Parts: sequence; structure tokens; C-alpha cells
Amino acid sequence: FNKCCRNLNLFLYPYDVVRLKNRLGITSDKFIDRHADIVMRDSSFFPDVLLRMSQDEERTCPFLSESGCLVYPDRPDTCRTFPVEQGVIYDAWTKKTSLVHFFRPPDFCLGQYESEQWTTASWANDQDAVIYNKMTIKWSELKSLFQVDPWGREGPTGPKGKMAFMAIYNIDLFRDFLFNSSFLKRYKIKNEVLKKVRKDDVELMKLGFEWVKYFLWGIKTKSIKQR
Ligand code: SF4
Repeated sequence: FNKCCRNLNLFLYPYDVVRLKNRLGITSDKFIDRHADIVMRDSSFFPDVLLRMSQDEERTCPFLSESGCLVYPDRPDTCRTFPVEQGVIYDAWTKKTSLVHFFRPPDFCLGQYESEQWTTASWANDQDAVIYNKMTIKWSELKSLFQVDPWGREGPTGPKGKMAFMAIYNIDLFRDFLFNSSFLKRYKIKNEVLKKVRKDDVELMKLGFEWVKYFLWGIKTKSIKQR
């Protein structure tokens, strides 16, 4: 067992980072610094975030120990879903995004030889992945907008790119920016939302998603208005 925790490209979604940094008791800034590799790929104008693997020969996950996964209750969505892989499709007719699943387990995966039968829904329930799946869909809806370049000449590493990355992945820094800069002089945010995001990382992450949509594409949201 645990062969699946080596030699892999483990993509981290924003909700994964929230759960992992809280499990480790560190800020999102520290988590990204210590544990994340940020890479640009041709398929999107927003970078992907991957868990930085150990430098050993097998590129082992840094959270794998002799006794198993050290962050098991907060392990990423991809780990929960394995050996099923998931993707998302957007239905232009219903304007809804949903998950699609592929079952292509590698030879070393012993789970595939067990007799118990699962559906994707019962597997998600068993692995406590339902909330993760919901958050992955939410993130995918925003990420799909990055198929079009929003940066112009400054590129993804320019000021706009840094702000968007902060609001999406580095939420402790985003909270600081929200409450301790001129942000609230420029944007009006409902009081009940502000109250929630002071303490609740997931609500803050959702607000970050909405703000990025508004900031980069002018997509109106219920909670944020320009003053
Ligand atoms: S986070 Fe846990 S389950 Fe996921 S690859 Fe690392 S050790 Fe394995």
C-alpha cells in the first residue's frame, strides 16, 4: 500500500490548501512557500499548484510516513478520489459544471482487486470527498475563465496576476489585504459577508473567487460592489 503516494504530480486546488494549511497549523503563505510548486501550463492562463514532493529517488509525498498519511483527515481531493480520476465538463445548454470520472487504476493499485463494488457517489461518501468535490467544481468554474488571457501585456506574473493568485490560493494574505488595506474603501462588501470571512477560511475563499471574477472580467456578484 501507499505506492500511490510516490512519483506523482499531485495538483492542489484552493480548498485543498485551506484544509492542509489548517491541519499543519501554518498560514497559507507558509504552506505555499514550503510545500507548493507553481507552474504555468499551455492549457490555462492561470498557474497550476502542485504539492512539492521530497527529493528522494521515488519523489515521495512529504506527508507520507511509516504509519501512513500524516494529513489523512485533510488529504487533498485527488488522494480521496484515487484510484478514480476526475475531470469537469461544462454544459453550455444548462450552464452547469459537473464532474466526470475515469477508472484507470495503475497495476500497483490493490484496491481494484477487492470484491466490494462502488459507485462514484458511494466512493465519494466513503472518502469524505463530497465537500471537496463541490469546492473543486466551484474552482473549475472560475478556472475555466482563464482559458482566455486576462493579463494583457503584464502577463500572469504581473500585479493583476499576483493579486488574483493571492485571492484564490493565499487566503490568509488575502484576509490581511481585505481588512488592512484600502480594499474596503474601493469595494463595498455586505456586512454579514465581512463578518463571516474574518474567521471562516472557506467563506473567504469563496469571496476571493467572486472578487477575482469581478476584478478581472467585471462579472457582477451579489456580495461585492465597487464604491
Ligand atoms: S497527502 Fe497523504 S494520501 Fe495524499 S499522496 Fe500524500 S501521503 Fe498519500
